[in-house]
Amino acid sequence: MLGNQKPILLPQLNLATILDANKKQVNMKQKTKLKIIYITAFLIFLSGIIGSVILMQKPNSDIVEILSEEQVICRLDLSREKDRTFTVEYNGGSNLIEISGGKIRVREADCRDNTCVKMGWLDSGAPVVCLPHRLVIRFAASEYKIDAVAGQ
Ligand SMILES: [Zn+2]
Repeated sequence: MLGNQKPILLPQLNLATILDANKKQVNMKQKTKLKIIYITAFLIFLSGIIGSVILMQKPNSDIVEILSEEQVICRLDLSREKDRTFTVEYNGGSNLIEISGGKIRVREADCRDNTCVKMGWLDSGAPVVCLPHRLVIRFAASEYKIDAVAGQ
């Protein structure tokens, strides 16, 4: 998958630009050192990009599942849903979920961290999660394991 030749191209371009700006000050030793740093940084960067692309890719689906305590409590087709809000309750707490313009998010929540609200609209393979309320909103087509995401 990852050829050894492929990642070499971009760091050389970056390096060339940077060295161009500093060429008077930079001697050969520093150049070699810089090159190694840039190639290493680029490889890390590249693997990060590939990882995020795999994770963040939006599934080819408008079908969204809402899970409470690992159980699918409803399945929605966002392409057909009218704009509305509704509440999902859990153990005395609640999340106000909003559907608007074919998108879905947690608009308000009384959980302790409000991470679910801060995550904003569901727009990728990464689910919107409210850990305290054990609530997950995700695209139905996505294949990742919720346990793996929650365990991070
Ligand atoms: Zn929350």
